[in-house]
Amino acid sequence: MVTLAWHVKPLTELLSHRGHFPHSLLIHGPQGIGKVEFSYSLVQSLLCLAPVNHLSCQQCVACHWVAQRQHPDLMILNIEGNVTLEEDAAEDKAKDKKSTTINVDAVRDLGPFLTVGAQRNGYKIVLIEQADALNINAANALLKALEEPPPNVLFVLVADQLKRLLPTILSRCQKLALRAPNAKESCEYLKIPELEALSLLAVYGTPLNSKRALEQGVEKLRHSYLTLLTTPQVQLTELSVLAQKIPLEYWLDWTHKWCNDLISQYFLQKRFFHIDVAVNLPTVEKVIIFDLLAWEKQLKQAKRSLRHPLVPKLLIESLLIPWLSLNRSLYLNP
Ligand SMILES: [Zn+2]
Repeated sequence: MVTLAWHVKPLTELLSHRGHFPHSLLIHGPQGIGKVEFSYSLVQSLLCLAPVNHLSCQQCVACHWVAQRQHPDLMILNIEGNVTLEEDAAEDKAKDKKSTTINVDAVRDLGPFLTVGAQRNGYKIVLIEQADALNINAANALLKALEEPPPNVLFVLVADQLKRLLPTILSRCQKLALRAPNAKESCEYLKIPELEALSLLAVYGTPLNSKRALEQGVEKLRHSYLTLLTTPQVQLTELSVLAQKIPLEYWLDWTHKWCNDLISQYFLQKRFFHIDVAVNLPTVEKVIIFDLLAWEKQLKQAKRSLRHPLVPKLLIESLLIPWLSLNRSLYLNP
């Protein structure tokens, strides 16, 4: 479990105060900067049997257990591991439905873990990977534990958005804000030529998100999708078939960013996202800027309320139809 380069300093600083830790620590910052990775590095360093300069040795049995997510003094709560019986039933209706919250049962299940002493006479740690996904009952149950923390128990909460946490939980935690990596750190992390790295960062925002897009193999679809999208008088069927091969959240994000590129082209003569795609960028005329703005609003709303629909094709096509007339106006030969 390698600590990300931009985390080494805040982690070492935090660990140098390990004798004076609070009972609950809240790690927050923008999505995709590696907060969960930071938390595992922290947990590993705290549970390590032979830390080096406060950091985990990565060699001992405790370090291996944490890397495998199987340390007896570590309890992990996340949305992936949070499928209840009720949700199982619902899954029959929607096979692809993913849980987006951590519910009260997961927090109640912590009970026995919190009451039994640590196996190895050190910390017992509860790591909540998405504290902003705790539903209201789960948050209230957690609050009880935070109010009367058992000795030697450390709660590590991770959150993208503090505003989604109960104020009572916020007030119980010591907060640690993590910053995003700078361009140099991001390029070094991606280990690809700088120009290529900067183009990916423009689309995906952070090096971790960029790496994920590369590893999942979706990034290579982006160029072909944008090329087809900007083909003069492209047909809906053709576009829809290709769009359906792309994971929905990527497709929606790319399309939204393409729309924003056209808008910024009109206002600022510049695009910010798909900077590496050599598409023939048309001049946006005043007459269609309002249509573009309306399409942007539609895409933004779809992004906000994105739940995996039973028939993605319908959502995709309803969002592509406005583009067809925009495409005709933009790419029609005079
Ligand atoms: Zn170790």
